[in-house]
Amino acid sequence: MPGLSRRSLRNSALALICFAGAARAGDARLESLAAAYLEKIAGIDGTTIVFRDGTRMPAGTADPDKPFDRLLRDATVLDQFRLAYPRGAPIAPPPRDFDPGRFRDEAFFSKLYGDCRKARLDLEPVTWVGGERLPFARANGAAARLRDVAADIERLPPAVRSAAYPSAGTFSCRPVRDTGRLSMHSYGAAIDLNLRYSNYWLWESHGSASVPYRNAMPREIVDAFERHGFIWGGRWYHYDTMHFEYRPELLPAALARPAPAR
Ligand SMILES: [Zn+2]
Repeated sequence: MPGLSRRSLRNSALALICFAGAARAGDARLESLAAAYLEKIAGIDGTTIVFRDGTRMPAGTADPDKPFDRLLRDATVLDQFRLAYPRGAPIAPPPRDFDPGRFRDEAFFSKLYGDCRKARLDLEPVTWVGGERLPFARANGAAARLRDVAADIERLPPAVRSAAYPSAGTFSCRPVRDTGRLSMHSYGAAIDLNLRYSNYWLWESHGSASVPYRNAMPREIVDAFERHGFIWGGRWYHYDTMHFEYRPELLPAALARPAPAR
């Protein structure tokens, strides 16, 4: 290129790289969204999510003083990353109000999977442990990853495997009981396992201020889900131990693969 020395070219390239880095500084979390939902998200522009259909969604702000109650009912996309999900940690009572994954921006997930109150979602049957067929979201490889979980659980000893089935349900267009917001079941991206192994904070607390932790879900089943991009409700202070939901952005080592061609 005439007029430009090799050194100035290299410096220009470095400046460009630094500029790109500066523009996205602090937004590695948003990049993990793009990697997890690459079927729907084309990229991140500063703090704006750019979807493949051309629409753009600001990720909002992450106000450190936002109260817990508002995080549950009115989370921004950036709020979703406030608590790091403790993948692979020992099963233990979580600290007070430690609910990683429960802060969700409803508009964001409706964009990823559709709004069940307005339209039919694209669900496909997944053969679950024990042979029952369950509807699950096709988008973002969610159903494909649930199949991977089923295959892993089928290899576990029968006494462990029995906690996984029959399933207490997958898709259900309903709000979460204590937040009024659509649950991940509303997107066909959550599964409840065997009700007999279930503990739910609201049932155990009996109206008291503190919540005693209880869990009967085997560690091997939790591991199988976390390996394939699902988080577990048993890691929440407000626990729901039969509940698993597909949240690959919170498990960077288990990022989504593209959904297989139909
Ligand atoms: Zn559930």
